[in-house]
Amino acid sequence: MAAYINRTISMIGGDGQHRSNDLRTDNSPLQIFVKAKKKINDIFVEIDDYVQDAVGFMHSLRDDRDIVNTQEAETIESYVYKVHAIRDVLKRDHMKVAFFGRTSNGKSTVINAMLRDKILPSGIGHTTNCFLQVEGSDNGESYLITEGSTEKQPVQSVGQLGHALCKEKLCESHLVRIFWPREKCLLLRDDVVFVDSPGVDVTPNLDEWIDKHCLDADVFVLVANAESTLMVTEKNFFHKVSTKLSKPNIFILNNRWDASASEPEFFDQVRAQHQERAVDFLSKELKVYTPKDAEERVFFISAKETLQARLQEQRGQPAHNGALADGFQNRYFEFQDFERKFEECISKSAVKTKFEQHSQRGKHIAMEIRSTLDEILERTQKMRSSQLTVKKEVHDKLNFTEQQLMLLTQEMKDKIHRMVEDVEQRVSKALNEEIRRLAVLVDEFSVPFHPEPLVLNVYKRELHSHVENGLGSNLRARLSTALALNIENSQREMTERMASLLPDNKKQLSINILPRREPFEILYRLNCDNLCADFHEDLEFRFSWGITALINRFAGKQGQKLAISNHPQAIPQLMSPTDSIDSVKFVTSPTCIPSRGDDWSLATRVAIASITSQGTMGGLLVAGFMLKTVGWRLIAVTGAVYGALYLYERLTWTKKAKERTFKQQYVNHATKKLRLIVDLTSANCSHQVQQELSSTFARLCHLVDEATSEMDVELKTIATTLRTLEEAATNAKVLRNKANYLANELDLFDAAYLKSLN
Ligand code: GDP
Repeated sequence: MAAYINRTISMIGGDGQHRSNDLRTDNSPLQIFVKAKKKINDIFVEIDDYVQDAVGFMHSLRDDRDIVNTQEAETIESYVYKVHAIRDVLKRDHMKVAFFGRTSNGKSTVINAMLRDKILPSGIGHTTNCFLQVEGSDNGESYLITEGSTEKQPVQSVGQLGHALCKEKLCESHLVRIFWPREKCLLLRDDVVFVDSPGVDVTPNLDEWIDKHCLDADVFVLVANAESTLMVTEKNFFHKVSTKLSKPNIFILNNRWDASASEPEFFDQVRAQHQERAVDFLSKELKVYTPKDAEERVFFISAKETLQARLQEQRGQPAHNGALADGFQNRYFEFQDFERKFEECISKSAVKTKFEQHSQRGKHIAMEIRSTLDEILERTQKMRSSQLTVKKEVHDKLNFTEQQLMLLTQEMKDKIHRMVEDVEQRVSKALNEEIRRLAVLVDEFSVPFHPEPLVLNVYKRELHSHVENGLGSNLRARLSTALALNIENSQREMTERMASLLPDNKKQLSINILPRREPFEILYRLNCDNLCADFHEDLEFRFSWGITALINRFAGKQGQKLAISNHPQAIPQLMSPTDSIDSVKFVTSPTCIPSRGDDWSLATRVAIASITSQGTMGGLLVAGFMLKTVGWRLIAVTGAVYGALYLYERLTWTKKAKERTFKQQYVNHATKKLRLIVDLTSANCSHQVQQELSSTFARLCHLVDEATSEMDVELKTIATTLRTLEEAATNAKVLRNKANYLANELDLFDAAYLKSLN
């Protein structure tokens, strides 16, 4: 009773007689739900965008399964559907109030009074036998949709609605949804949905009702009849509800309280009785409130009066025209008090039941994505550091290889140079020795000799090839094994050292690169045919004690030079070591005649001149001079000995002697010629060695180059991978931070709308 008085006083002293719609709009507790819904909707729009971004991120790394695995990508993709589903539910989320009570207790009238319009049919004749749900329509239309149909049936007025419903043969648990323009009613605009039920006394099928229409209700209003007491059927219904819902929000409206005006003497007594029973029912039977809180949930109203008053107000007439029963004002205030408490209650309850789980789910999604991103980030960082290590290794190896290649190249160059010099010396030494042994080689030539010019030509050709082959094979015998071994060793060393710069897969290749053919063989191209082509034998008989011979002997070496000068041949000019022996040019030089003739004595010149140019006259002069000095006997003996000598020599000038002389002349000639080409030949041989070693080295260098270019390619690939990883890490970080931001937004939402409820 005290609570009632307080409440009444506060209503009168507080808002004034009529709260205007505008004022209600601004201060309405329903705004908590409206704002919370808008806020969480906005957050879920962001979550939706975020999930799309995360999916895009996953897709961008789809080709690189090392960074993102299929399962992770699929998990993130699944959130797209989950978020869409939550957004769909969010859009439909509303505050639902369900009215229960016995038939004709005035449920429809209460709803109409709250909606300030006669939307639902009320009255004894219009009582419905199915569930009626009134909700706001978005497009300003009013229509109804029966269960199982999508057809919009027009509802122009309550009369028509009643008529329309009468036509339908509906089961009592069926739901008819009535859409009413939102702008006509603030409660509808703020997403409150009203559900009117058939009387709980008309059906035994309460369980089906509850399952179908009550589980998502935020507030239950029991409309009781103040003219009687709470019935068992009504109580039973709420007992069932409270078994299925933990602590349902229940208001008890003792309707038809206008009837109390006719019996004012029992007013307080009846009211106290109703109050006590209702409080007991809520606190002791249902145990949903404490007795104190339960008192706040019981109201004594007259829905009929309130509806009438509100309709009057809307018509611009005073709410109370004097025709109403006593105590109307109090009942009207109490109705408004109920409405305020109801709004607070339904708003908080709906925010909690609807949005708390959305907020939890949103946070869960953000955290799940965040932890996936953390894993990806960790993975990319690991991959990045391993790639960096590989990069450093490859880079170092590349540098090392290049440096070593430079050092090795220089070293090998020096080595080849030393080898080439060594070969040159060896070949030169061996060739000189062979030239010294040329006489033996020529002596070994056993083809029958015949001085006939034609036969001799053939003999000469064969001798050329004998000498050439002989020299060649002797040189090979002396040098080949040692040189080949030397070269092979050098090549092996070269290969081994270069192989150390090669990766394992190329090492085998480097071994194969060595020529596996016959061991390297130097070609000693002496080409005696050309070299000695200018050889002209002199097989004329010459008496060794003849005047000319004596002069020659007397002239000694000088004379030899003269003899050479008499031949039309000349000493070859300097030859470049690179010139092929084949191309050796023998240039006839006009200056070939020795210029050292100046050294000769005047007497010698006279003697030679007298013998060679004056002939017999000179001889006579010498003979006369001799006869006079030594006497004729001595001359005769000398002449006889001289004659005998001549005869002897003439007789021994046989074919054999001619062969010997020929060979001697050939040896002399070839020796001179070969001496001239010693340098050239040795240079040529060393050149061959250089070619061989250089080409081997070049092939090895090529392998190393291939390896270094492979390393270059590898470095480029690593750089690309690193870029991808860095990009992935940056994007993962951005997305991870956004997940934190969204979780934080939801925390703020909880703090603003959910925590304050507790
Ligand atoms: P429902 O079956 O519970 O929906 O009850 P209705 O709203 O249809 O009301 C049944 C009858 O009771 C109607 O004729 C109403 O006019 C009447 N009624 C409703 N509320 C009140 C009220 O507060 N006082 C009086 N005197 N009659 C009421």
